[in-house]
Amino acid sequence: MGPILITLMLIAGLVGFVYFGKDKLKLLLRARKDITFDNLPERIKGLLVYGLGQKRLITGDPSSGWMHALIFWGFLVLLVRSLTLIIMGYYEPFHIPTFIGAGYTFLKDITEALVLLMIGYAVYRRVVIRPKRLENSRDAWIVLILIGILMVTDFLFDGAKFALFGGPEGWAAAERAFSPIGNLVSLAFAGAPSLFNQVVYHGAYWIHIATLMGFAVFLTMSKHMHVITSLPNVFFRRLETSGKLDMLNLEDEDAEKFGTVTIADLSQKQILDLYTCTECGRCKTSCPTFVTDKPLSLKMLNDQLKHHLVDSKEALLANKLDELPPLASNIISPDTIWACTTCGYCEQACPVFIDQVPRIVEMRQNLVMMEGDFPQELNKVYKGMERNSNPWGIGYDKREEWTKGLDVPVPTVAQLKAEGKNLDILYFVGCMGSFDERNQKIARALAKILNAAGLNFGILGKEEGCTGDTAKRTGNEMLFQELAKFNIEKFDSYDIKTVLTTCPHCFNTIKNEYPQLGGTYKVMHHTELIDQLIKDGKINLQQAFEDVIFHDPCYLGRQNGIYDQPRAVLGAASKNGVMEFDRHHEKSFCCGAGGGRMWMEETIGSRINEERVREGLEKNPSVIASGCPFCLVMMKDGVAAKDANHVKTLDIAEIVAEAMIIPLPMAGGNVSIKVDNPPSLPQTSDETPEA
Ligand code: SF4
Ligand code: SF4
Repeated sequence: MGPILITLMLIAGLVGFVYFGKDKLKLLLRARKDITFDNLPERIKGLLVYGLGQKRLITGDPSSGWMHALIFWGFLVLLVRSLTLIIMGYYEPFHIPTFIGAGYTFLKDITEALVLLMIGYAVYRRVVIRPKRLENSRDAWIVLILIGILMVTDFLFDGAKFALFGGPEGWAAAERAFSPIGNLVSLAFAGAPSLFNQVVYHGAYWIHIATLMGFAVFLTMSKHMHVITSLPNVFFRRLETSGKLDMLNLEDEDAEKFGTVTIADLSQKQILDLYTCTECGRCKTSCPTFVTDKPLSLKMLNDQLKHHLVDSKEALLANKLDELPPLASNIISPDTIWACTTCGYCEQACPVFIDQVPRIVEMRQNLVMMEGDFPQELNKVYKGMERNSNPWGIGYDKREEWTKGLDVPVPTVAQLKAEGKNLDILYFVGCMGSFDERNQKIARALAKILNAAGLNFGILGKEEGCTGDTAKRTGNEMLFQELAKFNIEKFDSYDIKTVLTTCPHCFNTIKNEYPQLGGTYKVMHHTELIDQLIKDGKINLQQAFEDVIFHDPCYLGRQNGIYDQPRAVLGAASKNGVMEFDRHHEKSFCCGAGGGRMWMEETIGSRINEERVREGLEKNPSVIASGCPFCLVMMKDGVAAKDANHVKTLDIAEIVAEAMIIPLPMAGGNVSIKVDNPPSLPQTSDETPEA
């Protein structure tokens, strides 16, 4: 078609691609290295399922998901076509040998038609449907136009080619037989003068090649860089839940700071995340902060950081890091940093696996541990945890007062040990169950269930400390590690193997984060245990409740994958099954209390818990059930705010304790316990919990 011209175009495309892409590559390479090839089979599987298979796109929002997936698959199919067209620039009659070429030509034609249809649908969505999550973006329109041009010019090129060379003796005859759309276009061109077909043939070809080169350059300059980085980002994704945050090495004597201060502190994966954001807005639809008008969404944060990264290019590449401003306050507002409930919705909704929670917590770490700059409400919380190992600062010696007046035994492990008795399960009550009046009822209900099932359980009582979840997620890693080490020491001193919690935050911290400090245990949430007890016939329930709706706690469901057991238990206690919120399972909407938000005022926008309760009340439940003390408090307050006090807010343990009819005491296994040292906790305080 024109070897010199095609060579010039290829060179221009390549030069443009390298010119606009090289700095982004350099910024990526200079960043802190955290990209890893560990667990290769899992990474390859993810690449196939989520990268090439586009699973999250399709399941997250099927209509736009299929649209995007078809365009993406079409893009892959048409890569081969682009190659053949480039070769034709050097040798015009080139075509893929017939036995493969016939099939490919047919596939290519159908694919191009589908892609064109999808482009039409994309335009319709942007102009007519206008989903809230999508902003009108110039780049998106440019890309839609470029893809459209590629498809149309290819059909025109084929049509003119078949009209010119597709006759019985022509070199394009074989290809024509397998090209339904190209053939159709050629029929339209059949009566046209040869000059017309020559102009269309050459014109369509060169416009196609020029668009292709322009598209490649445009990718490096726009949000459509995700076309290049999405697959690597999926491949290098974090394989663990964002409920598991990495441990900071606080003993590193060379460390000059902790946490993220400037853009230079972002890691390679975090920068790849920024390049990969497609700006699709899926992360916003059920982000509790975005929905309730707080200044935070994963997309927004990506956008702010990406622009700042590009603006900081000179300083970063010249290693003039002291010229870079701290992110907090200068680039990212503190309200943004402190708004996140760490619920993980955005991460599971993101089709290209962009992380949010660790990045937010790393910024908090710097503010808390280096700057001492954090919401003043946390002051009291940290002090309470430091002095008495609970966020209210109530005397640690009052930790087992919730057991007073109970008509079932709740032994401490120390008592069991002294009596030479065995222990199957340590019930880790947590601060909420120990001190919060409303949540003490849940601890009592669970104690009744455990007794009814005949389990050998014990509590640590005064020897229990706060797990440190709030400290960890608000960035106070130092305090977290102190609290965690205290509990681990205690568990190990009693040779604890199995820990039971009623709080998903305690569950998550002990299960996912204590192992990094040397404490590895079998950890169960009470809904898992109760489900098992029902299945084993150790407790029997009557269907004493009706119209029960279940709210998925983020740290139980999304962060730890426990969805079925709470529903199975509630199903056994309810007459008419379990009702669902519109947003449930992995799409559940946070109650607003995670990530330390439980202890902070909510002064911006509307209240997250009220939004969640509003959604639940639409189903007319008589009970909103949950399996998390934080959620329960938030639901209770939300119900009161909505003037819906006829709706009860209950924990699953309370529902089970009330529905239990045939307790069959049975002995559990035998786990011996050892007590080495008496407990030692810091000074006491006599404050009482806030209602
Ligand atoms: S983790 Fe939750 S609150 Fe935080 S940005 Fe993501 S969706 Fe929003
Ligand atoms: S972070 Fe993910 S979900 Fe959010 S806009 Fe970017 S690509 Fe879409």
